[in-house]
Amino acid sequence: MRTALISDIHGNLDALQVVLADVDRRGVDEIVCLGDIVGYGPNPIECVDLVAERCAWSLMGNHDFAVLYEPTNFNVVAKDAAHWTRDVLEEAVEQDPASGNRRLDFLNRIKTRQLHEKLYTCVHGSVRKPINEYLFDEDIRDDPAKVRRIFEMIDQRCLVGHTHVPGVFIHTEEDGPDFMRPSSLGHEDPDDPALIGVHVFDPDEKAIVNPGSVGQPRDQDDRASYAILETGDDAPHRVNFYRLQYDITAVAEKIYAIDRLDDWLGDRLFQGR
Ligand code: ZN
Repeated sequence: MRTALISDIHGNLDALQVVLADVDRRGVDEIVCLGDIVGYGPNPIECVDLVAERCAWSLMGNHDFAVLYEPTNFNVVAKDAAHWTRDVLEEAVEQDPASGNRRLDFLNRIKTRQLHEKLYTCVHGSVRKPINEYLFDEDIRDDPAKVRRIFEMIDQRCLVGHTHVPGVFIHTEEDGPDFMRPSSLGHEDPDDPALIGVHVFDPDEKAIVNPGSVGQPRDQDDRASYAILETGDDAPHRVNFYRLQYDITAVAEKIYAIDRLDDWLGDRLFQGR
């Protein structure tokens, strides 16, 4: 089974469309979204509708939660963006109650946790705090107790988003935890420049996979990020990481034109942070 993993779209329709076109070209059985469809970006409505149409399911991210309920631990820029997004979704209900309410129903039904292919626990943040907890690669050095605890709570495999940094955390009894960026994984194919790394899972390791962010990458690479997970009984499972260029200027200009979205939300897309 081939499953496209997308996450942290953040209202960036242009990036989402480029990713979905690439997914369609490669062919998958299913697309799943690890959360944060909205927040920050200028096209929340279109992104929710596209995820509802194309994804088997989506998870509750902290920005989805903020728009539906209340922002928690948000800075001013993120909070303003959440309130703007909420207003846009509510105005859409007034303009077209049927589709507007269907959209809100979809958002209200998304879960905080899903089990994929009986093996992969999927959450937006961490298994310990599914909506809000970040798992950073620096935590391996700075907060080993946190990393140990999170791995203890995982049977074997986990899929997360939230940090907007793609990669694989692995944990083995012998070596403890480690984090690998896609570019350090190897398996690059010169005929496929979008493929930047492949991880083949070892049965002895626990692993947490983050496909990175479609709509607001934060690893100093401005390209949209996603992954395809390959599972099945015949071969070791693997995950392929992809990066794709999209029209950042077009998205930034939409952001600059919306007063309640801070210009920084456009600027940061060029910097991949
Ligand atoms: Zn996010």
